[in-house]
Amino acid sequence: MSAPNSHIGDPTKRWTMVADLERCVGCQTCTAACKHANATSPAVQWRRVLDIESGTFPEVRRTFVPVGCMHCSDPPCMHVCPSTATGQRADGIVTIDYDICIGCAYCAVACPYQARYKVQQPRFAYAGAKMKNEAEREDPARLGVAQKCTWCADRIDFGLENDLTPGVDPRATPACVNACIADALHFGDANDPDSNVSKLLANSHTFKMHAELGTDPNFHYVYGNKDLDDPAGTEMARTVDKHADLGVKPWLQQHWDWRAAGNFIGGGTGAGLAVMGALAAFLGVKSGGLHLAAMASVALGLFMVFLETGRPFRAPLNVFFHPQTSWMTREAMVGALFFPVALAAVWTGIDGLAWAAGLLGLAFVYAQGRILTEAKGIPAWRTRSSLPLIVTTGLTEGAGLALAASAMFPVPLGGLRETLLWAVLGLVGLRALSWMAYRARLSAGAPEMTNRVLAATHPGILIGGHLLPAGLAAAALLFTEQAAFTAALAGLAAAGAGWAMKFIIVVRASYNQGFAIERVPSRGGIGIAGGVQPGWQ
Ligand code: SF4
Repeated sequence: MSAPNSHIGDPTKRWTMVADLERCVGCQTCTAACKHANATSPAVQWRRVLDIESGTFPEVRRTFVPVGCMHCSDPPCMHVCPSTATGQRADGIVTIDYDICIGCAYCAVACPYQARYKVQQPRFAYAGAKMKNEAEREDPARLGVAQKCTWCADRIDFGLENDLTPGVDPRATPACVNACIADALHFGDANDPDSNVSKLLANSHTFKMHAELGTDPNFHYVYGNKDLDDPAGTEMARTVDKHADLGVKPWLQQHWDWRAAGNFIGGGTGAGLAVMGALAAFLGVKSGGLHLAAMASVALGLFMVFLETGRPFRAPLNVFFHPQTSWMTREAMVGALFFPVALAAVWTGIDGLAWAAGLLGLAFVYAQGRILTEAKGIPAWRTRSSLPLIVTTGLTEGAGLALAASAMFPVPLGGLRETLLWAVLGLVGLRALSWMAYRARLSAGAPEMTNRVLAATHPGILIGGHLLPAGLAAAALLFTEQAAFTAALAGLAAAGAGWAMKFIIVVRASYNQGFAIERVPSRGGIGIAGGVQPGWQ
């Protein structure tokens, strides 16, 4: 399948940027030039320069590291985009179509380089009046949608149309590269062995940021002549945690808030209720009420995500544009099938339709799990272990609510109570195993703060969310006098723990990837050192 926008650009070119870490002095001129050229909002920096302090006294080092969109060869932002707004030109430049983007910010949590921004309101550097460049380049289409560095593609295209060489002629070169006072930033065609960047890469030690994630950026870092030894160890010093690393250590993502959590809560619970409705139909119990509750819950979840989008009136249509790779599109498609099938099941009472609605519920919660695993920028989500956790907790929430309903409304769901007690017992056990596997996976490598948040909530989740409902469900099975009340409590505790767990994972433990460098370059007479990844354990 070809990428959106792959018909634009020259396929023989591979535009590439190179930052020389031995030369960058951290003056931020590139940042200022980018802001001037693109008139971005005050809080937005398509080009940033990090200031990373590492080492221990007296061998303390500061490294200045330009970052921004890395124009990845395999861009996760493009794969997850449900509207095809993010595309990739034939020459490798990753693009955004502001007229299609729905502002869901899925790309922003999928980007491991924190390169994407969303601005809802027009804002200018000075209150009251726009600067000249802001008046000239203000673009209302950029509001409410994803935005990021474009590598000044308009200059590159202009240059090629006028026989200029991007990276050599300033009129065809990104503004940040033109502005660099230290000759630290370079731009050119990596497919041309004689280009400036090809020669630089051939003669230098190089690395790409977060190479282990497989995004294959077209942005390279160089740190010294290849003829000289690189004596640095290969081990990344993950625990380095210095005071000068503000904006370098992982920080809590702000793109998806309680409304996104509401989508996972409503959608997962609704899916679980639909599966319980299918189980009821299989056992010959009328399950219309469960399917109605399932539809209400899924609809509430989708409404919450609708509230989160920057361009909500585009979302209902454009979310369906990218089934090839986007799990958000797939979730929407399953949801679109789920509602008529579940409604028909309620309307007709046909068991086959109730089973079909249950299967669609299962597909829906699976898609929700995959939405998280594809968010490569958030370590607490992208781990494969989050998928079984999201699926088992969705089913547990559905079983828990169905159990509570069966205890409170004796006919016809009351006949299901014992089955649902066993279901809650089994699912709570599976969820506890999934939670422990999830925590074990993250403690082997995740931002410190993610693990701190999870460790703080672990006793409550394990005791209140697993031991308590399991104990109550077992008591309801053993002691039948107070069974209805105890069963209702067990169901509510099982469901409530799932909602709390998802809120914590989506909103509180969702620290981003942060930044890292594989090598600390030689500066001021001190040799090359091993890499640093501040804020990780
Ligand atoms: Fe740019 Fe991030 Fe997308 Fe890579 S994942 S192309 S860095 S926005």
